[in-house]
Amino acid sequence: MQSRNPATADVIATYDEHDDETVEKRLAAAQNAFESWSETPMATREELLAAVADVLRSNVETYATEITREVGKPLDQAVAEVEKCAWVCEYYAQHAGEHLQDEHIGAVPGAKTYVTYEPLGPVLAIMPWNYPFWQVFRFAAPHITAGNVGVLKHAPNVLGCAQAIESIFTQAGYPDNVFTSIQISTDRVSDVIRDDRIRAVTLTGSTRAGKAVAETSGSELKPGVFELGGSDPFIVLDDAPLEKAATVGATARTQNAGQSCIAAKRFVVHTDVFDDFLDRLTAELEALTIGDPTESETDIGPQARSDLLETLHERVTASVAAGANLRLGGEPLDRPGYFYPPTILTDIPEDAPAATEELFGPVAAVFSVDSEQEAIRVANNSQYGLGASVWTTDTSRGESIAQDLEAGNVFVNQLVKSDPRVPFSGTKDSGYGAELSRHGIREFVNMKTVWIE
Ligand code: NDP
Repeated sequence: MQSRNPATADVIATYDEHDDETVEKRLAAAQNAFESWSETPMATREELLAAVADVLRSNVETYATEITREVGKPLDQAVAEVEKCAWVCEYYAQHAGEHLQDEHIGAVPGAKTYVTYEPLGPVLAIMPWNYPFWQVFRFAAPHITAGNVGVLKHAPNVLGCAQAIESIFTQAGYPDNVFTSIQISTDRVSDVIRDDRIRAVTLTGSTRAGKAVAETSGSELKPGVFELGGSDPFIVLDDAPLEKAATVGATARTQNAGQSCIAAKRFVVHTDVFDDFLDRLTAELEALTIGDPTESETDIGPQARSDLLETLHERVTASVAAGANLRLGGEPLDRPGYFYPPTILTDIPEDAPAATEELFGPVAAVFSVDSEQEAIRVANNSQYGLGASVWTTDTSRGESIAQDLEAGNVFVNQLVKSDPRVPFSGTKDSGYGAELSRHGIREFVNMKTVWIE
């Protein structure tokens, strides 16, 4: 298992896979840790989570540097990622107990009835490389504080981040093995899912991986949360505030070099403002600096792996071959590392990859529509249903369109983002189950009804 610096293609480190004996030891230790952790008072669990936030905030630069080295995102974006991890820890340090309080039900005369939320056990978290800290903390902060323990199987190209995260829990004072990680290849994951000690599974990643894991966890009747790919529409209506929409749209498409599940991937633009918006978006994307992610002026770093760059470029060239018009970019940069420039495609046939597949890189697919109804149709014409963004000066019009969009998260006059205070989830091939807020923390608990007469 190797991590490479995607800005240079140099190998950073090589890691041994954990053998069966090591995996067995870690699962046994996780199960042991659960026995006492689940009995630890909520107030103590919340205090420890607050301590995690402190460790993150005290070492932001160190962790951000590791993220940038392994994933290639600009350092300021890596700093923001670490700070967001601290935020989700602070959020659940304050609210976990409140979200999991017993709920008394006064509906049964003569009986005391209530619902109580109890932890399940070790939860397996299969995580991707694109936000190697955030995806893990988004899972760990709520579910560990709910009294479960976490077993992380991280992506092989970010094992430095995985080890750093494990050490954060140790530094914060957690009992051993409340958070642990295993380094195994994909073909060994199903055995871990089937292990009796694993009580629930969550995966963030591609739809392909989600389906494979859900098949196994489903056959074992283990609850799962799946946050999968997306091809989010960014709808620009005829009354949209174009300047802001273009600025935010460029950020929404290119943050993390476009490698975000909730990046704006398909721009669906009304014909009345199409040329104006396209000119503005083009100017915004042309103004971005692509290069060394450790330099402060860099906006876009490399793609995270050479195979991801190849897949992205194949989808662009196949879309052009199918009839799309290449307005900007479209060729990998001729330099070491895996750099792909901001790219714009227009006139895209509905069966071209830019319309049907997820473009996991800084490539904007721009579609023209001549009505609100057509905008909704094009936006929904996707296997995915993760996020959607609608731009209009008439917020009640935006709100009404939000009701017609097949997505887990719709934002009007804002880019799609995750926030600990509100739930985050997908529909269709973007997965199921909630993360964040009180909805997220209730995914991996036994909702037990108690009736006393
Ligand atoms: P994957 O979905 O393959 O990887 C995500 C995680 O799942 C990794 O830890 C991976 O491990 C694991 N995994 C993959 N297949 C299986 C399986 N069959 N059983 C168990 N675990 C599995 O993403 P990629 O890195 O290959 O990226 C490819 C595409 O995935 C991207 O282009 C993008 O479309 C999408 N993606 C979406 C993300 C999101 O945030 N929604 C995040 C990352 C990717 P391993 O690498 O060892 O296979």
